[in-house]
Order: sequence, then structure tokens, then C-alpha cells
Amino acid sequence: MRLVFIGPPGIGKGTYASMLSKKYGIPHISTGDIFREEIAKGTELGKKVKEYVEKGLLVPDDIVIEVVRRRLSQPDCRRGFILDGFPRTLRQAEELEKITTIDAAILFEAPLEVIIERVSGRLVCPKCGAVYHIKWRPPKTPGICDVCGSQLVRRKDDEPEVVRRRYELYLQTFTPIIEFYRRKGLLIEIDASREAEEVVADLEHILKQRGILK
Ligand SMILES: [Zn+2]
Repeated sequence: MRLVFIGPPGIGKGTYASMLSKKYGIPHISTGDIFREEIAKGTELGKKVKEYVEKGLLVPDDIVIEVVRRRLSQPDCRRGFILDGFPRTLRQAEELEKITTIDAAILFEAPLEVIIERVSGRLVCPKCGAVYHIKWRPPKTPGICDVCGSQLVRRKDDEPEVVRRRYELYLQTFTPIIEFYRRKGLLIEIDASREAEEVVADLEHILKQRGILK
């Protein structure tokens, strides 16, 4: 089960990936997470990546591709993997073909208004990083972190205007990649405007139909 996950910020890709990852014992590979780890560990790669991130630039294709190549060569990827946040350029998609065979690219979709409702209800703890949602995962005391008792805040990225702008940017960035996988017959479109369990069940059903999941 070698999958690529595609979807706008706030669609819940990370949640679906970790649900599948746990259930089937395949790694959930997020290039963003790898970069954050390398930066935190202060490795050579981390230092390189940090330069770009600090300048607000995208990490160049060559570095990202090398990171993914190395990660996919790890033994835990033998039974499959879920790539999240990669590829994000056409060149990355083409290079990925040379590294491995992808079984399907999963496109998670929902109307922008649904995403905005979801994302803008999100509250985070500035102290311990716990994440809540006004509707789906409310803290026991409104506005207060269950874990450490701090005042919860809404991240700037979760403001409706920011979500709208990031959605536009996502469309610009990913439309060529979506078309790339569509042309190859690998694209599976999933309605992600439902509960996470339903979204994942639907995806599993389609993967079974296609013989990707046994
Ligand atoms: Zn907290």
C-alpha cells in the first residue's frame, strides 16, 4: 500500500494518515515532520533546511527528493507507506516515480466553507501544544487546556482569511500534481467533508476494490 496523500490545509490529511498508519502498520511519512526533526537535532540536513525555512523559501526539490529517497529505503517502508506533503512539485512527482511505484494518489476534498468551519474552530495550547476543537474535541473547561491549564488560543494560520489564502495557494501548487496522477489513472478522490472515521472507511473500501488493500 504505497500511497500519496493530497489535500488542502485543514482537510485532515494528517489525521487520516495516522489512522491508516496505525491500523496497517505502515509509516506515515511527512516531509515537514522530517525537516522539523532534522532542524531540532541540528544535523547537516537540518542546517540546510533551516536556511530556507527561515527565509520563508520552499526547500529545493533536490533536498526534498533526497530526504524522501533515504526515508523510503528504510526497512519499515517495505510493506508500504503514506506520503504526506510530498510530492509538491511536478518534478518531485516525476522523481518519485524513479524511486518507487505509487499504488494510488488520494485526493481529499471538501468545500472551502467546510474547511473554514473546521479549522477556525481549532484551539491550541501555546504552552504544551495540545490541540482542541470547539465542536469535535472541546476542552473540559471552555478556553482552558486540559493538560496544563493554560489559556487556549486560535493560531493565526487558522483564521478564516488565512485559510482562504492558503487554499488558493494549494490549488495553484497542487493542480498540476493532481492532473499528473489523474492522467496515470492513479487518482482516487475522497469526500472529506464527513467524520474522519467515515472518510477513512470510504478510502479503505475503494483501496480494497482496487486490490491495493487486501
Ligand atoms: Zn496545555
